[in-house]
Amino acid sequence: MSSKSGTRITRTVTFRLTLWYAALTAALVVAFLGIFFLFMTKNLGKRVDGDIRDEVRETETVYLSRGLEELRRHIDFETESEGKNRLFIRMLNPRGEVSVSSDMSTWGDIRLPSEVRDIPVGAEVMQTLSHTGRESKVRVITRKISGGNLIQIGYNLHDDERLARRYYKSSGILIVLLLGCVGVMGWFMARRAMSGVERVTHTAIGIGKTDLVSRVPMGDEGEEINNLARAFNDMLERIQGVIMELKEVTNNIAHDLRSPITRIRGIAETTMTGPLDMEEYREMAQIVVEECDRLVGMINVMLEIAVTEAGIHDMARSEVDMSRLVGGAGEVFRPIAEDKGLSLLVNLPGEPVFVQGDRHQLQRAISNLLDNAIKFTPHGGTVTLALDTNQAHAIIRVTDTGIGIPGKDLPRIFERFYRGDQSRSTPGNGLGLSHVQAIVHAHAGEIKVESAPGKGSTFIVSLPF
Ligand code: ADP
Repeated sequence: MSSKSGTRITRTVTFRLTLWYAALTAALVVAFLGIFFLFMTKNLGKRVDGDIRDEVRETETVYLSRGLEELRRHIDFETESEGKNRLFIRMLNPRGEVSVSSDMSTWGDIRLPSEVRDIPVGAEVMQTLSHTGRESKVRVITRKISGGNLIQIGYNLHDDERLARRYYKSSGILIVLLLGCVGVMGWFMARRAMSGVERVTHTAIGIGKTDLVSRVPMGDEGEEINNLARAFNDMLERIQGVIMELKEVTNNIAHDLRSPITRIRGIAETTMTGPLDMEEYREMAQIVVEECDRLVGMINVMLEIAVTEAGIHDMARSEVDMSRLVGGAGEVFRPIAEDKGLSLLVNLPGEPVFVQGDRHQLQRAISNLLDNAIKFTPHGGTVTLALDTNQAHAIIRVTDTGIGIPGKDLPRIFERFYRGDQSRSTPGNGLGLSHVQAIVHAHAGEIKVESAPGKGSTFIVSLPF
């Protein structure tokens, strides 16, 4: 038999759970019934032994106190009332010859136990005989009484055996019925538990190349299944996010590449159509070179971000004194800031602050932040570059009094190619902050931003020592 996916039913978790459940229940029931049976047979045995022991002693008293005739009557009375097939009583002399006996015609071959010769007067030997020519077993007691005579009493265990057989039979039927019920119940329970897994599988199969919108619905099979569904939905959410980002990046790349290429093409067309003087050709060639440089620069930054993010960049790790590095960046950017009518303040600690890292990359990160701060701060503003430390980190703050970043842009400014609405008029390609973030992450650091529109922004980079 096979299920729709072609898996053999015996290999399904449902089947195995059911089997385990049924097997465990069966084992438990068999053990329970077994213990009960042992207990029952032991008690039955005890009762029979007690009865024949009482009987043998009573018979002895009758013989010793009232003689052989009275014994004969006693034997007849007892075996008649109990049934000749169920009980025999007899007395044998010390030589083993029968003196008095009930009717033994149906009892087969009952012999004296050999050890009876050596036991003292008043002692008894108990036996269970199974080879007497009868169907059922016989419990026999032999007691030595005074004068060396022996009183022997036998009890037919037929009724007890029949009881045990009945018990076996009904136990068997009970176990079969129980297994049937447990199997059906187990199957339904396992199927119910597994239906959640099937729901996840069903959604997974339903998700084609284009459908990433479907989600596994929550059910009531149990928290584990809902956790699985949640984990699966989260994974889908992440995949969808990555695909969206990829689409956006591709669109942005296409968009950013189109304008310089269109310009280059326009210039090439102009050079083809008319004779121009040498100076004009030179100017056009100059523009083509600039556009090509811009394109190559953009492609290089993109590659660098990709490589840094993937962690496969060959980072030249060394001890970098951030005091010197930040101070140097301040020196480089001061004239640029002053050209724009801004003041650039640099706050450094008195002593060196060392971190493990790539000097060149860290320089790039700080330059990008300073470049943005100067770019987005209007004339008359201030840019502050500060270095600080806490127990485990060097903390670099780049603060400006510029245009600030609207709340809706804040979560997105680190995305590749993302540019805020207000920055459309400023030069840039939206790659600067993604590059900074990739470098900071490659150094196991963190970058945060605090900003309010019209009030300015602070970018905070923390790098572990
Ligand atoms: P670019 O500067 O080329 O536009 P970035 O990745 O460096 O790209 O920055 C992304 C966006 O973040 C910018 O377009 C701008 O909207 C915003 N931004 C970055 N730095 C600042 C800043 N100091 N002040 C205001 N906005 C900023």
